[in-house]
Amino acid sequence: MASAAVTDIVHAIGAAGVVGAGGAGFPTHVKLSATVDTVIANGAECEPLLEADHAVMVLEPARVLAGLKIAMTATGATRGYVAVKEKRGTALRVMTELIQREEGISVFALDDVYPIGDEHVLVHEVTGRHVPEGGLPLEAGVVVSNVATLASVADAVEGRPVTSRYVTVAGAVARPVTARFPIGTSVADAIAFAGGPLTERYRVILGGPIMGKLAPDTSAVVTKVTGGIIVLPADHPLVRTRESDIGVIIRQARAACCQCMSCTETCPRHLLGHRIAPHLIMRAVSMSPGPPPDTVAGAWLCSECAVCATVGCPSGLSPVRVNQALKQSMARKGMKNPYHEKDISSHPLRTARRVPSSRMVTRAGIASYMTRPGDGFAEAGETARHSSHTECLSAVFQPDRVSIPLLQHVGAPAVPCVKAGDEVHEGEPIAEIPAGKLGARIHASISGTVTDVGDAITIVAGRRRR
Ligand code: SF4
Ligand code: SF4
Repeated sequence: MASAAVTDIVHAIGAAGVVGAGGAGFPTHVKLSATVDTVIANGAECEPLLEADHAVMVLEPARVLAGLKIAMTATGATRGYVAVKEKRGTALRVMTELIQREEGISVFALDDVYPIGDEHVLVHEVTGRHVPEGGLPLEAGVVVSNVATLASVADAVEGRPVTSRYVTVAGAVARPVTARFPIGTSVADAIAFAGGPLTERYRVILGGPIMGKLAPDTSAVVTKVTGGIIVLPADHPLVRTRESDIGVIIRQARAACCQCMSCTETCPRHLLGHRIAPHLIMRAVSMSPGPPPDTVAGAWLCSECAVCATVGCPSGLSPVRVNQALKQSMARKGMKNPYHEKDISSHPLRTARRVPSSRMVTRAGIASYMTRPGDGFAEAGETARHSSHTECLSAVFQPDRVSIPLLQHVGAPAVPCVKAGDEVHEGEPIAEIPAGKLGARIHASISGTVTDVGDAITIVAGRRRR
């Protein structure tokens, strides 16, 4: 049975609306209800261009450490790691200096390979353990939590809810920047803050350039899981590949896949020993009348890291898009992942076949947006300038209005507890977890007047004139 202290911690995290900030959005109070022996603070941030996690580690390292210790207490873990890439020299130094006298906690320096932040890959790199196929790190006795999430955990225990987060605005913008944006800030406002787009016809990817999702337009908003806003010319290959019709992608696979196996040989999950072989899936979907079900079920094990499409395939084919489509199709039919092997071992060439991040950057066509490659911060402080590609500000951007979605996490949408016309203060709860459901509480990210309540709650800054 959990102690009162642990119950209080978990309750405070739930009350503060903390969810996985690395993109997953799983409610953290549920995740930290598990019992494990190890917690890994994930500071890998392996998507190119993003520096939001780096900013947290350099500007607010004490919050990251405090959150890690709280997570260890909540889960009963006796071992904690802050996993950060060796190339992030400043973050590595800052976190190492802070942690050196902490018992049971150490910094783990990661190689600069992609996707080293993937939970299955990260757990294996740091602990040598294997997460089962299709499983979660806790099945290997580990909780993995993003460094920004852990910083929010520290805030939560001190009574401060999630109202803003670090976001990198990069790509084709005049002044690439990493700064704190209130939840609900529009993409248009964030891009304007970054000096505006450098091209007239552009599209926006929310998240990292490799795994992020295309935003429908610039009215999309920053949520608790938005680490990046990447502006790219509308004809950039990373945009075009996301816009391609899946029927065309499958026809291309049928016509051009030479079964060279390069996609499989570079697949990080395959190299961990999981039963996914993208070249076989590509062959299977090219067959008629229907592909062999056991082969395509391997798509469930796909992390959607896009290594296969970006560096694996010499013919420009997209196994990742095929896997995404297969997963959606199987889910619609009520099918579930049949692969759950626990006793797995890595491919003997796994380490040698890992993909250097620089290769991902070149192959993804984004090298020109990483104008000054190198370590992050020249120095930690209120405002620090990277020696890489974004300026980092710890001050919070002040929008005139925010539109805060009721669903920005795994689970059920939050239920509004305010109505149009209400005055709210930053940090005040505006939507609650529905009774008995998995979800996350939502708070006002700015002070002002609620002007609309629908799928999102709109707040206009300042007090309403009467
Ligand atoms: S996206 Fe491609 S490389 Fe990544 S796990 Fe899926 S099949 Fe493997
Ligand atoms: S790398 Fe491309 S061509 Fe080769 S097997 Fe995979 S999908 Fe087919």
